[in-house]
Amino acid sequence: MRSFKVYYCRGLRVKVDDITILLDPLTSSAVRADLVLVTHAHSDHAKGYLRSSLRSLVISSEITKSIVEKVSRKRALNVKIISEGQRISLGKFTVQALNAGHIMGSLQYLIEFPDLTICYTGDINLVDSLTERRGDIPSGVDVLILESTYGHEDFVFPPRSEIYSSILSWIEKHTGKGEVVVLGGYALGKGQELTALMKEIKDKIMVSNKVLLYNKIFEEKKFSLNNYIPLSSPEAKEILKAGGVIIVPHIELRKKTPYVLSRILGINKVPKVAVCTGWAASSRMFFAIKKAYNVDALFPLSSHADVEQLLLYVDEVRPRIVYTAHGFAKKLAKLIRWKLGIKARKVLDSRQMSLFKYVKHI
Ligand SMILES: [Zn+2]
Repeated sequence: MRSFKVYYCRGLRVKVDDITILLDPLTSSAVRADLVLVTHAHSDHAKGYLRSSLRSLVISSEITKSIVEKVSRKRALNVKIISEGQRISLGKFTVQALNAGHIMGSLQYLIEFPDLTICYTGDINLVDSLTERRGDIPSGVDVLILESTYGHEDFVFPPRSEIYSSILSWIEKHTGKGEVVVLGGYALGKGQELTALMKEIKDKIMVSNKVLLYNKIFEEKKFSLNNYIPLSSPEAKEILKAGGVIIVPHIELRKKTPYVLSRILGINKVPKVAVCTGWAASSRMFFAIKKAYNVDALFPLSSHADVEQLLLYVDEVRPRIVYTAHGFAKKLAKLIRWKLGIKARKVLDSRQMSLFKYVKHI
């Protein structure tokens, strides 16, 4: 019988007997870990990548390493690269990587002991998109550590093809009148998906510097995207006189009026603005986001699974127990117990853990 626990301590931490594994740590660990697993390059998952590397072996995809190094302009040390489907043996256990379908280079991990298999999903998306293949569904899992960003009944996304059509119709409606359209989303992930979607638009599109950086990496590692040019280029200024499409990180749109935005973007027209985010699927959140971002339209395009996909995934994996982390963790654990009859609980943080002295024997 093994002792097992999972808890938050500046990122997720798994302990199996005397082995400590850090999952997407946010800082360097005070204790030496046996292994650090990084699922993808979003900052809320890769923050500890460079800081951890001096102390412990880090495993990630080659794309994740490349993004972290390019953005930080530092070299990551003590890293072992893993590819989808590959299995690395680390003595008492092995690590296998599966596709997560979230952003370029994103992985799920299977940590396999002879008598215990743990799956950590990181952020997952379970439908095909223009840029990513849907995440894999593992088998033989005892303990599933599952992301729960949209683990609430409010978050059911329409089919992706419908969302794509809505975005394109909205763009055509405005660019047809010579207007400038600004689309906001995460620069890493959504930026490439939106750029790929703009293949349907005949003209060149403009992207901000952040989106440009990730588009270039995507093209270097995966495949060619649409005909896009930097927003800062003289050509972009010319094109935008007659209207056009600009893709920017959504965070740059927050609390800015369209007029202020036109000044920042250096365009002489007040643009129409839309944000693409899974939060838009909730009618309760819809108006709050619309106000915060001061936008004309919102589209529920997400790089995460919605609640229905998460439940289908758990139902197919059928683990002995599920630990939910991030977002609606408590709510999703309740839904899994109630709808699927599978044991599920939210991951606690280290202070709660010491309070309850919770150690699960598996
Ligand atoms: Zn992410």
